[in-house]
Amino acid sequence: MLALLLAAALAPAAAPSPSTTRDTQTVVVRVYDNARVSRSEWREAEKIANEILRPVGVRLTWKACGVMVAGRDPCVDPPEPRELVVRWLGGESDTMSGILGTANVPGILASVFPERVRTIAIRNRKPTGLILGAVMAHEAVHLLLGLRGHTAQGLMRATWSDSDIRLGWIWRIGRTADERAAITAGLHDTLAAAPIELGIRTLSEIEK
Ligand SMILES: [Zn+2]
Repeated sequence: MLALLLAAALAPAAAPSPSTTRDTQTVVVRVYDNARVSRSEWREAEKIANEILRPVGVRLTWKACGVMVAGRDPCVDPPEPRELVVRWLGGESDTMSGILGTANVPGILASVFPERVRTIAIRNRKPTGLILGAVMAHEAVHLLLGLRGHTAQGLMRATWSDSDIRLGWIWRIGRTADERAAITAGLHDTLAAAPIELGIRTLSEIEK
Protein backbone atom coordinates (compact mmCIF):
# COMPACT_ATOMS: atom_id res chain seq x y z
CA MET A 1 0.00 0.00 0.00
CA LEU A 2 1.28 3.45 -0.84
CA ALA A 3 0.37 6.35 1.36
CA LEU A 4 0.53 10.00 0.44
CA LEU A 5 1.73 11.94 3.44
CA LEU A 6 1.94 15.55 4.30
CA ALA A 7 5.18 16.65 5.91
CA ALA A 8 6.70 19.87 7.10
CA ALA A 9 9.68 20.18 4.80
CA LEU A 10 11.13 22.76 2.50
CA ALA A 11 10.12 22.60 -1.15
CA PRO A 12 12.62 22.57 -3.99
CA ALA A 13 13.31 25.25 -6.52
CA ALA A 14 11.58 24.47 -9.69
CA ALA A 15 10.71 24.37 -13.32
CA PRO A 16 7.62 23.46 -15.29
CA SER A 17 7.72 22.31 -18.87
CA PRO A 18 6.16 21.43 -22.18
CA SER A 19 3.63 18.67 -22.44
CA THR A 20 4.37 15.26 -23.86
CA THR A 21 2.38 14.49 -27.00
CA ARG A 22 0.32 11.28 -26.95
CA ASP A 23 -3.27 10.43 -27.70
CA THR A 24 -5.34 10.99 -24.60
CA GLN A 25 -6.57 7.86 -22.82
CA THR A 26 -9.76 8.12 -20.80
CA VAL A 27 -9.95 6.28 -17.47
CA VAL A 28 -13.23 6.02 -15.55
CA VAL A 29 -13.01 6.57 -11.80
CA ARG A 30 -15.87 5.44 -9.58
CA VAL A 31 -16.01 7.80 -6.64
CA TYR A 32 -17.79 6.72 -3.45
CA ASP A 33 -18.20 9.90 -1.43
CA ASN A 34 -18.56 9.14 2.27
CA ALA A 35 -17.13 12.53 3.19
CA ARG A 36 -19.93 14.78 1.90
CA VAL A 37 -17.75 16.77 -0.45
CA SER A 38 -19.68 19.69 -1.97
CA ARG A 39 -20.61 19.69 -5.64
CA SER A 40 -18.45 22.74 -6.30
CA GLU A 41 -15.42 21.12 -4.65
CA TRP A 42 -16.07 17.93 -6.59
CA ARG A 43 -16.21 19.84 -9.89
CA GLU A 44 -13.07 21.80 -9.09
CA ALA A 45 -11.18 18.66 -8.03
CA GLU A 46 -12.14 16.80 -11.21
CA LYS A 47 -11.13 19.78 -13.35
CA ILE A 48 -7.79 20.17 -11.60
CA ALA A 49 -6.99 16.43 -11.71
CA ASN A 50 -7.48 16.50 -15.46
CA GLU A 51 -5.41 19.63 -15.91
CA ILE A 52 -2.59 17.94 -13.98
CA LEU A 53 -2.81 14.72 -16.00
CA ARG A 54 -3.21 16.37 -19.42
CA PRO A 55 0.58 16.53 -20.06
CA VAL A 56 0.81 12.73 -19.67
CA GLY A 57 -2.15 12.03 -21.94
CA VAL A 58 -4.63 10.69 -19.39
CA ARG A 59 -8.12 11.98 -18.73
CA LEU A 60 -10.20 10.86 -15.75
CA THR A 61 -13.99 10.70 -15.94
CA TRP A 62 -15.50 10.52 -12.47
CA LYS A 63 -18.73 8.69 -11.69
CA ALA A 64 -20.63 9.69 -8.56
CA CYS A 65 -21.51 6.30 -7.11
CA GLY A 66 -24.72 6.12 -5.12
CA VAL A 67 -26.05 9.34 -6.65
CA MET A 68 -29.09 8.35 -8.67
CA VAL A 69 -29.22 9.49 -12.28
CA ALA A 70 -32.63 8.98 -13.91
CA GLY A 71 -33.48 6.62 -11.05
CA ARG A 72 -30.33 4.54 -11.44
CA ASP A 73 -27.03 4.30 -9.57
CA PRO A 74 -24.31 4.76 -12.23
CA CYS A 75 -22.11 2.26 -10.36
CA VAL A 76 -24.63 -0.57 -10.12
CA ASP A 77 -22.91 -2.56 -12.87
CA PRO A 78 -19.58 -4.34 -12.27
CA PRO A 79 -16.57 -2.16 -13.13
CA GLU A 80 -15.34 -2.28 -16.69
CA PRO A 81 -11.69 -3.21 -17.27
CA ARG A 82 -9.43 -0.30 -16.32
CA GLU A 83 -12.07 1.40 -14.19
CA LEU A 84 -10.62 2.68 -10.93
CA VAL A 85 -12.44 2.98 -7.61
CA VAL A 86 -11.74 5.72 -5.08
CA ARG A 87 -13.37 5.96 -1.66
CA TRP A 88 -13.61 9.37 -0.04
CA LEU A 89 -13.62 8.58 3.65
CA GLY A 90 -15.09 10.95 6.20
CA GLY A 91 -13.88 12.12 9.57
CA GLU A 92 -10.50 12.33 11.19
CA SER A 93 -9.09 9.08 12.43
CA ASP A 94 -6.07 8.34 14.57
CA THR A 95 -5.21 5.55 12.20
CA MET A 96 -2.96 6.58 9.34
CA SER A 97 -2.69 10.06 10.80
CA GLY A 98 -1.43 12.64 8.32
CA ILE A 99 -2.15 10.48 5.30
CA LEU A 100 -4.13 12.19 2.57
CA GLY A 101 -4.64 9.13 0.40
CA THR A 102 -3.62 5.52 -0.09
CA ALA A 103 -3.60 3.13 -3.02
CA ASN A 104 -3.02 -0.57 -3.35
CA VAL A 105 -0.40 -0.90 -6.03
CA PRO A 106 -1.03 -1.83 -8.73
CA GLY A 107 -4.72 -2.08 -8.20
CA ILE A 108 -8.12 -0.56 -8.61
CA LEU A 109 -8.96 0.81 -5.17
CA ALA A 110 -7.67 3.94 -3.50
CA SER A 111 -8.85 5.80 -0.41
CA VAL A 112 -8.74 9.56 0.06
CA PHE A 113 -9.43 11.60 3.19
CA PRO A 114 -11.14 14.87 2.20
CA GLU A 115 -11.33 16.24 5.77
CA ARG A 116 -7.56 16.09 6.05
CA VAL A 117 -7.30 17.68 2.62
CA ARG A 118 -9.60 20.46 3.86
CA THR A 119 -7.45 21.05 6.96
CA ILE A 120 -4.34 21.38 4.82
CA ALA A 121 -6.15 23.59 2.31
CA ILE A 122 -7.21 25.99 5.06
CA ARG A 123 -3.72 26.06 6.54
CA ASN A 124 -2.22 26.88 3.14
CA ARG A 125 -5.06 29.22 2.09
CA LYS A 126 -5.93 27.13 -0.95
CA PRO A 127 -9.34 25.87 -2.10
CA THR A 128 -10.06 22.31 -0.93
CA GLY A 129 -11.03 21.21 -4.44
CA LEU A 130 -7.66 22.31 -5.76
CA ILE A 131 -5.77 19.99 -3.39
CA LEU A 132 -8.34 17.21 -3.58
CA GLY A 133 -7.83 17.15 -7.36
CA ALA A 134 -4.08 16.73 -6.89
CA VAL A 135 -4.56 13.90 -4.37
CA MET A 136 -6.92 12.16 -6.80
CA ALA A 137 -4.42 12.54 -9.66
CA HIS A 138 -1.62 11.19 -7.43
CA GLU A 139 -3.60 8.11 -6.39
CA ALA A 140 -4.86 7.44 -9.94
CA VAL A 141 -1.27 7.34 -11.19
CA HIS A 142 -0.42 4.85 -8.42
CA LEU A 143 -3.35 2.61 -9.30
CA LEU A 144 -2.04 2.43 -12.84
CA LEU A 145 1.72 2.54 -12.26
CA GLY A 146 2.31 1.35 -8.72
CA LEU A 147 5.57 2.37 -7.13
CA ARG A 148 6.97 3.40 -10.48
CA GLY A 149 4.81 6.48 -10.23
CA HIS A 150 6.86 8.16 -7.53
CA THR A 151 9.22 10.99 -8.42
CA ALA A 152 11.54 13.10 -6.31
CA GLN A 153 9.44 16.23 -6.66
CA GLY A 154 6.07 17.42 -7.90
CA LEU A 155 2.68 15.70 -7.84
CA MET A 156 4.18 12.23 -7.47
CA ARG A 157 6.42 13.07 -4.53
CA ALA A 158 5.65 10.57 -1.75
CA THR A 159 5.42 13.28 0.90
CA TRP A 160 4.06 16.75 0.30
CA SER A 161 5.27 19.69 2.31
CA ASP A 162 3.32 22.88 2.89
CA SER A 163 5.89 24.55 0.66
CA ASP A 164 5.11 22.09 -2.13
CA ILE A 165 1.53 23.26 -1.91
CA ARG A 166 2.20 26.96 -1.54
CA LEU A 167 4.68 26.97 -4.42
CA GLY A 168 2.36 24.95 -6.65
CA TRP A 169 4.54 21.88 -7.06
CA ILE A 170 1.78 19.37 -6.41
CA TRP A 171 -0.01 20.55 -9.53
CA ARG A 172 2.92 19.57 -11.74
CA ILE A 173 3.22 15.90 -12.58
CA GLY A 174 6.93 15.93 -13.25
CA ARG A 175 9.77 18.30 -12.62
CA THR A 176 11.51 17.56 -15.90
CA ALA A 177 10.50 16.51 -19.40
CA ASP A 178 12.25 13.17 -18.80
CA GLU A 179 10.14 12.51 -15.71
CA ARG A 180 6.96 13.32 -17.59
CA ALA A 181 7.99 11.15 -20.53
CA ALA A 182 8.66 8.20 -18.20
CA ILE A 183 5.29 8.58 -16.50
CA THR A 184 3.54 8.98 -19.85
CA ALA A 185 5.16 5.85 -21.25
CA GLY A 186 4.32 3.85 -18.13
CA LEU A 187 0.70 4.95 -18.06
CA HIS A 188 0.14 4.21 -21.73
CA ASP A 189 1.87 0.83 -21.50
CA THR A 190 -0.38 -0.08 -18.58
CA LEU A 191 -3.51 1.06 -20.36
CA ALA A 192 -2.53 -0.87 -23.51
CA ALA A 193 -1.83 -4.09 -21.58
CA ALA A 194 -4.40 -6.83 -21.08
CA PRO A 195 -6.84 -5.64 -18.42
CA ILE A 196 -7.23 -7.40 -15.12
CA GLU A 197 -10.50 -9.29 -15.03
CA LEU A 198 -12.64 -8.16 -12.16
CA GLY A 199 -15.53 -9.79 -10.43
CA ILE A 200 -16.37 -13.34 -9.48
CA ARG A 201 -18.14 -15.68 -11.83
CA THR A 202 -20.02 -18.75 -10.84
CA LEU A 203 -18.82 -22.14 -12.02
CA SER A 204 -21.80 -22.46 -14.36
CA GLU A 205 -20.90 -19.14 -16.01
CA ILE A 206 -17.30 -20.25 -16.53
CA GLU A 207 -18.43 -23.56 -18.08
CA LYS A 208 -20.63 -21.84 -20.66
ZN1 LIG B 1 2.39 8.19 -3.51
